[in-house]
Amino acid sequence: AKIDMAKFAKFCKDNGFIFQSSEIYGGLNGFWDYGPLGVELKRNIKDAWWLDMVRNPPPGPDGQEIRMVGLDCSIIMNPKVWKASGHVEGFSDPMVDCLKCKKRFRADKVHFAAAKIDDATRALSVEADNQTDAEPVLREKIAKLQKKKHPLGALATATDLQFFSASNLPHGYPRPCPSEDCDGTLTEPRAFNLMFESHAGPIASEENKVYLRPETAQGIFANYRNVLNSTRLKLPFGIAQIGKAFRNEINPRNFTFRSREFEQMEIEFFCHPGESMKWYEYWRDLRKRWYSTLGIKSDNLKPREQGTDELAHYSIGTTDIEYLFPFSDEPQELEGVAHRGAFDLNAHAKHSGKVDDLAYFDEELWNNDSQKLATRSFKEWLKGNPTADEIGRYKFVPHVIEPSAGADRFTLAVLCEAYHEDKVPDKDGKLEERIVMRFHPRLAPVKCAIFPLVNKDGMPEKALKLYRELKPLFNVFYDDKGAVGRRYRRQDEIGTPFCVTIDGETMQNDSVTIRERDTIGPDGKPAQRRINLSEVKDVIFKALSP
Ligand code: ATP
Repeated sequence: AKIDMAKFAKFCKDNGFIFQSSEIYGGLNGFWDYGPLGVELKRNIKDAWWLDMVRNPPPGPDGQEIRMVGLDCSIIMNPKVWKASGHVEGFSDPMVDCLKCKKRFRADKVHFAAAKIDDATRALSVEADNQTDAEPVLREKIAKLQKKKHPLGALATATDLQFFSASNLPHGYPRPCPSEDCDGTLTEPRAFNLMFESHAGPIASEENKVYLRPETAQGIFANYRNVLNSTRLKLPFGIAQIGKAFRNEINPRNFTFRSREFEQMEIEFFCHPGESMKWYEYWRDLRKRWYSTLGIKSDNLKPREQGTDELAHYSIGTTDIEYLFPFSDEPQELEGVAHRGAFDLNAHAKHSGKVDDLAYFDEELWNNDSQKLATRSFKEWLKGNPTADEIGRYKFVPHVIEPSAGADRFTLAVLCEAYHEDKVPDKDGKLEERIVMRFHPRLAPVKCAIFPLVNKDGMPEKALKLYRELKPLFNVFYDDKGAVGRRYRRQDEIGTPFCVTIDGETMQNDSVTIRERDTIGPDGKPAQRRINLSEVKDVIFKALSP
């Protein structure tokens, strides 16, 4: 369902999920801060990913254990890394500039409705993520012009009305600026490199130029040999990293969806080339499933195999896992799972000259075969000029499967998915709007709220004791202010799955009321039941386990 994004962003701000970065100075386009609840939510997302993918991945396609290790690389690396990876040459988006207002747009996000009128081609333009979003706005624009009897109004009746984006508008077409208040024209599209630049050292010279990493993946490839040598891992295995990435996006948009600073959760899974399709399917299916296990409804989750025309030149297959965000009619990418072949390791072998370091030697297989080949040492055997195919059996460049997810994008998806507006009668019977955040318990910023029913008769002491017991285990919240109904409402609004109330009965038999946000009781309200004080911890732990 569509939600009002402005209202949603305000809700996120008012409740401490997401703030605009440096807001007191007017903010900075494309940069965001996570507030007290947002930081817990995003941390839970990253922790769930690390636990489910790195420490406890499910068995592989043949039931085997999966070996995964982690890495935490620097954001600024030797710039040669980015030459080798192709980012210096090719990490760019097509951009257009308005010759009059000087605004800059991503060419593939500016859409035109164009038609031939009186032998001349006329066009109207609008900025939107895709044509589906652009078309109704363009049609509305045309209708307005028609009312004013503007010559361009004739576009509406033109039978050959066509839609283009600025990057595929045929050469020579007029390119009006999409800004409402500007009648300028746009330039032809040009490539704009998205990497942020800086300088390492006191002199801002060309030699000192460095880049903020636009992805975490390259740090993994650059450390491939170090990881192999220090862990003695055997193929197949994966290396994972969570960390910041920076892209100087031309038009940051849709709240945090497209930011200039964001966090990625990436895996490079190295495997034998002959087994790579199997592993590609394993990761593609696992990654899609993961989102569902964290409460994303399957209707909103769309895996999309990229067409051959979309694939990066080195990729054998890529699936985008897309989510239907409420700000768009078309699903948008949460994660890309790409079969990258041997592209990256080969590129680093070529640029660094460390060909041996970036290959893999199958020692076990060699040891098995060496008797048969009547030689103990691989080096000796090489002197007998075996063919490339024969060598390739023992020494080869692994293939790589890369599931690359965005922590901020998923955080936004989780916030959108959890957001529920409904109307309930207040104490005078008037309908009042309220918001319930239905977070999966693993992701909820606060797991449990603890309330003494009243602030007397030993209840606060008992409630505080429970609070102090649970506090080291997970995030709990203590609240003794106002009517219990109000306190429940507040917890619903921030998505707390459990509320525990200490009342008169607790003082007699140690039983408490536990209220579960998403279990509906006979009265249509969240279910409440009595359990023993000592059971609270286990009930919550159960909901938190993967
Ligand atoms: P897009 O097409 O949306 O620009 P991409 O295909 O360039 O994304 P990748 O390079 O595959 O993205 O990056 C992997 C993941 O990193 C994306 O699936 C997304 O979750 C996240 N990501 C990429 N760019 C941004 C951004 N500007 N803001 C937030 N997250 C991002």
